[in-house]
Amino acid sequence: MPDATDIQVVRSEKLSAFRAVVCGCSVRLGGVSRPPLGMNLSFNVGDVRDNVIENRKRFFGTLGLKSAGVAFTRQCHSATVKTVVLPGEYDACDGLITSTSNLPLAISVADCLPVLLFDPDRHVIAAVHAGWRGSASHIIKQAVKKLQAEFHSASASLIAFLGPAAGACCYEVGQEVADRFDADVLAIRFGRIFLDLKKENARQLLDLGVDEKNIETSQFCTICTPSLFHSYRRDGKQSGRMMGVICLIDEEN
Ligand SMILES: [Zn+2]
Repeated sequence: MPDATDIQVVRSEKLSAFRAVVCGCSVRLGGVSRPPLGMNLSFNVGDVRDNVIENRKRFFGTLGLKSAGVAFTRQCHSATVKTVVLPGEYDACDGLITSTSNLPLAISVADCLPVLLFDPDRHVIAAVHAGWRGSASHIIKQAVKKLQAEFHSASASLIAFLGPAAGACCYEVGQEVADRFDADVLAIRFGRIFLDLKKENARQLLDLGVDEKNIETSQFCTICTPSLFHSYRRDGKQSGRMMGVICLIDEEN
């Protein structure tokens, strides 16, 4: 296990086995923004614009990618997933799919779950932002169904990485949120209710036929690991934002 200060990207072991894809989730370390923002990748949290640009350059650079030419979501906690072939910001969606090489898909997170999907048989990827609202609306199922309909992906071929997110250890929710989930992804401790976002999304993938051995879940909880992660729940609106990124690599280059 590397020292916490050495970790600049949380990577997927399973997806790292494929040369055709590169992916990773950023942490709060290694950036140039003033503390506590550090490696903040969002322009919308009061950070200095040039610092965010430099941070993005560093994070994408660590993945071997350029920070220009990325496809971003303008997230709204929906269950909408869009298929894209060009860089840019895509309105009113929380997931992106592409079969275009060298087009990174990026989603912004600070406690919500980043889900990165790859189908090595059909050479197509997806990046999904799954907070409690998106999870309750089954956004990950929408993404898989779109992969099946538009790219003829077989569920059994899909490889999934569920990145760092608010963990069941810390992610307290109210009764009205809990009511939207099955009991097996909820825990009650001392009269408080906690939601397991990762388990919920893994189960949605299993329900659609994704193989358990192809689902990798990061054990990191963003809320109780302040040395590594930004957390909206812990630090509020001004907390920095991280990114989950996935990109198909043109192996010819
Ligand atoms: Zn925790």
